[in-house]
Amino acid sequence: HGDSAAFDEEVKSVCPYCGVGCQLSFKLRDGRIAWVDGVDGPANEQRLCVKGRFGFDYVDHPHRLKTPLIRRDDAPPKGLNVDPADLSTHFREATWQEALDRAAGGLAALRTDHGGPAVAGFGSAKCSNEEAYLFQKLIRQGFGHNNVDHCTRLCHASSVAALMENVGSGAVTATFNEIENADCAIVIGANPVENHPVAATYFKQFAKRGGKLIVMDPRGVGLGRYASHMVRFRPGTDVAMLNAVMHVIVEERLYDEQYIQGFTENWEAMKAHLKGFPPEKMAEICGVEAETLRTVARTFAGARAGMIFWGMGISQHIHGTDNSRCLISLALMCGHVGRPGTGLHPLRGQNNVQGASDAGLIPMFLPDYQSVGDDGVRSRFRDIWASGDFSAEKGLTVVEIMDAVHDGRIRGMYIMGENPAMSDPDVEHAREALAKLEHLVVQDIFLTETANYADVILPATAWAEKAGTVTNTNRQVQMGRPAVAPPGQAKPDWWITVELARRLGLDWDYGHPRDVFAEMKRSMKSLDNITWERLEREAVTYPSLSPDDPGQPIVFGDGFPRPEGRARFTPAAIVPPDDTPDAEYPMILITGRQLEHWHTGSMTRRAQVLDGLEPEASCSMHPKTLRRLGVGPGDMVRLSTRRGSLLVMARADRAISEDNVFMPFAFVEAAANILTNPALDPYGKIPEFKFSAVRVEKTAGA
Ligand code: SF4
Repeated sequence: HGDSAAFDEEVKSVCPYCGVGCQLSFKLRDGRIAWVDGVDGPANEQRLCVKGRFGFDYVDHPHRLKTPLIRRDDAPPKGLNVDPADLSTHFREATWQEALDRAAGGLAALRTDHGGPAVAGFGSAKCSNEEAYLFQKLIRQGFGHNNVDHCTRLCHASSVAALMENVGSGAVTATFNEIENADCAIVIGANPVENHPVAATYFKQFAKRGGKLIVMDPRGVGLGRYASHMVRFRPGTDVAMLNAVMHVIVEERLYDEQYIQGFTENWEAMKAHLKGFPPEKMAEICGVEAETLRTVARTFAGARAGMIFWGMGISQHIHGTDNSRCLISLALMCGHVGRPGTGLHPLRGQNNVQGASDAGLIPMFLPDYQSVGDDGVRSRFRDIWASGDFSAEKGLTVVEIMDAVHDGRIRGMYIMGENPAMSDPDVEHAREALAKLEHLVVQDIFLTETANYADVILPATAWAEKAGTVTNTNRQVQMGRPAVAPPGQAKPDWWITVELARRLGLDWDYGHPRDVFAEMKRSMKSLDNITWERLEREAVTYPSLSPDDPGQPIVFGDGFPRPEGRARFTPAAIVPPDDTPDAEYPMILITGRQLEHWHTGSMTRRAQVLDGLEPEASCSMHPKTLRRLGVGPGDMVRLSTRRGSLLVMARADRAISEDNVFMPFAFVEAAANILTNPALDPYGKIPEFKFSAVRVEKTAGA
């Protein structure tokens, strides 16, 4: 990209893609981003992956929304039918004044006619902490209830439910970089080489130094090449497998008695429960030999310091909370929490899913996971917000909100930076719900699939165009800075939310995100000793114990934020997947991401290098499976589940088991979520994206 003289200016910020939170520098030439370099952030130490380095030009894409839009009176019926290159068939341009009045007016009318709960909001893990905070405040203060959620519901909600229940906090207990002090690490249900690539570089280094890396996954994920133990198990059998590992630890008395006595509760019940999971019996369920399960148990329990990392292979199941409960129990019984090189780390997906959850963008918790059902908590927020009361009842979650639209309980929505028309399970059901809404306000940078259904579209600024803080998977709070000017009349999300709030009758007065951050600090102990000014200078890992403390990479060394400071063992029983294969749908569909594309593709499919590398939707199967079906790599196949059917190109991949199909969900032309199952985990309310019974058929042309 040339020498340093080739750029006019550089602006340091944070990568807008994944939860690793790499710090980067936008190199500007003639007011545009010319290239991106990694800088020395605490999570990345100058490293970037292909998305962070080459995925920035979506900012300049001609599809950017530049003007507020209002649905035309003579527009065709709502559907996924707008050409992003010509919006005029469905929308007319409007002034900000008119669009904001129309957006707020429609939501206010529903509030008057049907009550506040007739309106729901989806905020975004792609926006800043301040924007997430304002969004949840708007729904709670403006509509008096808690029907507000975001994509954490589709990602790690079950992990958070288990962590809150058993260790008293929903965030990681140690940064991923702590792996350098471990001698054993389990990475399970995660594919960090593709989804957290810079974190994966630390895992690879750990393995190259001789660390015992145990990779457990139904797929032969890329990190497996570095593993000392690669354990491939049948999809959906996590609880059987993990209980068997813990059974061995109990049977062979490999557990840390002193730690268990000092820091935990419910151990005797856990021990009794695990008797029912001998590895010889569980091997038949999970497809892993008993001796391998014994080796994993001995290796992890025998380590001086061990960590557990997990991803959505664990969380996206109807037993996702149970899966996480097992991982928490495994770490606790080995005493692998609270010391250097130990810890529990759910690898968070979006760049700010940790921060958005911390800021209260979830239906059961106010900021800092303070329960909406606690009268004292609500009273404190009423004081800070100078507000009336709002409901003590937990709100509806992402999938529940779409169901509530279908049955008429919810009639209007405000959606900021989320794309449920692509990301929800059984997505045709979600699209029908969006079409049914009486009033839909969408705020985004592109005409997303969701914006196709909008009544009012409010053009927002991209991450590189605004100021705000974000919190990565490591609990590191970092500053994002504006590098380039927004296109046309696009405005920062926080500004738009404030303008809507004022039109909904709220007395809001914020001139800059730093004003919002100052208000957040009044209710969020996690931000103690962290100020906007400090974040201008440095990243801080919460909790920070003093104004000079860079923050605590490891927490809970001296007890847990639970009664008597003790973490809890919660036994988990085997719950089979909801949508089991049968003669009609004999294989198992697993959905996920791929290195080059980010979630629903709205940004990466408009980034030239990334879309050039992976321009087409595909599904991957084992070569033997392709041969059995009579198709070759590159042929089109039909995938069908009990929800729907689509055509997609087949790829050969030996990393996929012979009865499995893997498919990324970033491609609208073959939207994987047409196929997925909306059945929910009862605790985290997360859908079972990782297991759908599927039929694969050769098409006529193949
Ligand atoms: Fe961005 Fe994640 Fe890649 Fe880092 S690892 S550059 S945060 S996408």
